[in-house]
Amino acid sequence: MHPKIEAVIDRYGVTDAARAFLGEEHKLYIDGAFVEAASKDRVPVIEPSTGETLTTIAAAGKDDVDCAVAAANRALAGGDWAGMKSRDRQRILLRLADLIEANAQTLGEIESLDNGKALGPCVEMDILGGAELLRYMAGFATKIEGATREVSAPGSHFAATRKEPIGVVAAIVPWNWPFNMAMWKIAAPLAAGCAIVLKPAEQTSLSMLYFMKLCERAGLPKGVLNLVTGSGRAIGDHLVGHPGVSKVSFTGSTEVGRRVGETAGRALTPVTLELGGKSPMLVFADADLDAVAASTRWSVFFNAGQVCSAGSRIYAHRSVFEKAVTKIKQVAEGMVMAPGLDPACDIGPVVSASAKANIETYIRKGVAEGARIVCGGDETPGDGFFVKPTILTADDNTLSVVQEEIFGPVVVILPFDEEAEAVALANDNQYGLAASIWTRDISRALRLVPRIKAGTVWVNAHDLIDSAMPFGGFKNSGFGKDMGPEQLDHFLRTKSVWISVAEGDE
Ligand code: NAP
Ligand code: MG
Repeated sequence: MHPKIEAVIDRYGVTDAARAFLGEEHKLYIDGAFVEAASKDRVPVIEPSTGETLTTIAAAGKDDVDCAVAAANRALAGGDWAGMKSRDRQRILLRLADLIEANAQTLGEIESLDNGKALGPCVEMDILGGAELLRYMAGFATKIEGATREVSAPGSHFAATRKEPIGVVAAIVPWNWPFNMAMWKIAAPLAAGCAIVLKPAEQTSLSMLYFMKLCERAGLPKGVLNLVTGSGRAIGDHLVGHPGVSKVSFTGSTEVGRRVGETAGRALTPVTLELGGKSPMLVFADADLDAVAASTRWSVFFNAGQVCSAGSRIYAHRSVFEKAVTKIKQVAEGMVMAPGLDPACDIGPVVSASAKANIETYIRKGVAEGARIVCGGDETPGDGFFVKPTILTADDNTLSVVQEEIFGPVVVILPFDEEAEAVALANDNQYGLAASIWTRDISRALRLVPRIKAGTVWVNAHDLIDSAMPFGGFKNSGFGKDMGPEQLDHFLRTKSVWISVAEGDE
């Protein structure tokens, strides 16, 4: 570990368990054991507040993917998981959730050092939120049911449907919520009785490596959850198109998602794609502007803006435009930029040098295209990948900063005059992940909800997430849902069962 990172850790402190874990050699987790990658190749893990190397992880190759997929298939063919009573499967998942809770601080510290995010919300939302989702889905393990059907076919029949686990799931997650997104991907298939090969993002695999130790303690049978770390470019296509995989569940960018969809399509493997977003916030003249501004702390700048559903374009009615900009500016300027472990941190560094460079390029491009900087926008000197909360204003919906996902703490605010214009501006985008409507007029809210082309629409809020509510986009934000009962269906297949009933003697 680099001395600059040691200094950060010494300054803020971490649990003994986190310190010990960071000192370990990190391997793949296949068939119930930590194993070296066949190639023995390693990938450096960069700590974003210093830009220095924290540790290294194993770089899985195609052979390792083959081993992981084979182990998962064995787990489904053998007795330990496939033959387990649903009640016992549920108990393991509930035990796992308790272990996450008991280790939340350690998991949060590992995550914060790996990704850069602020520790407090990370423990609260990423880690404990993940435990809650596991509990929610564990409940379904004992409630998977088919139906009996009255059929009119000639003869006499007993007809019923059975719901069966779909098989081995390839789950691929991004770096912005490493642990939480992994829970979004594994909780439902585990409850459904599937086995999984999980591929974390190469920048952020550490929290899931720690999690595998908790899986062992919870009694998860070997082969049920396998972890292949390393580069997605190297193994992604192989994993997604693998004949031993029966379902692909992907969260990440639209660009990579399109490729994953193509590969899965060729293999005729069903796929769920949770992709990028550029979610609008529509602020009407009668909106509570203080509530709008307060929400931007979470809806825009939280996690340094690296949130798929971030309200990164705000349309404010012209009569309240200046007021809205001023209030949001006050929020942006009050946010403290610091390493994630610092208790004062509101905005940590973004995940990598290339993410920082990409965000700064967008800001420069936006200005060149005619956007105006209200605050932030200038480069942050020094170590680490810090980007100041940045507000732009513009009049033109076609600007790249309005149309494209920047994935940083950058928001662009535009004026509108008419309700129909606001809806048209909101829908004029390739993405359709989420949107929010801010108004005190209930009729307006109810009128607009059906017209907004997005998988989630909030009214007078912009960041509500719950295990019971399905999340997933329309248009280029993908298809399929994570969370809620809807997600479980993605991991079950329906078998129709007919039993001919012979005529009796009388
Ligand atoms: P990304 O570049 O698309 O990567 C996502 C995952 O795909 C990573 O694990 C990556 O591995 C892997 N990957 C790369 N190439 C692959 C291939 N050919 N086949 C299969 N997998 C491959 O996305 P990101 O930059 O990590 O994450 C940010 C994006 O995720 C944003 O667009 C954001 O909006 C989206 N997101 C969406 C949601 C949602 O629910 N809709 C939630 C969170 C984030 P490597 O890391 O090794 O390259
Ligand atoms: Mg990292």
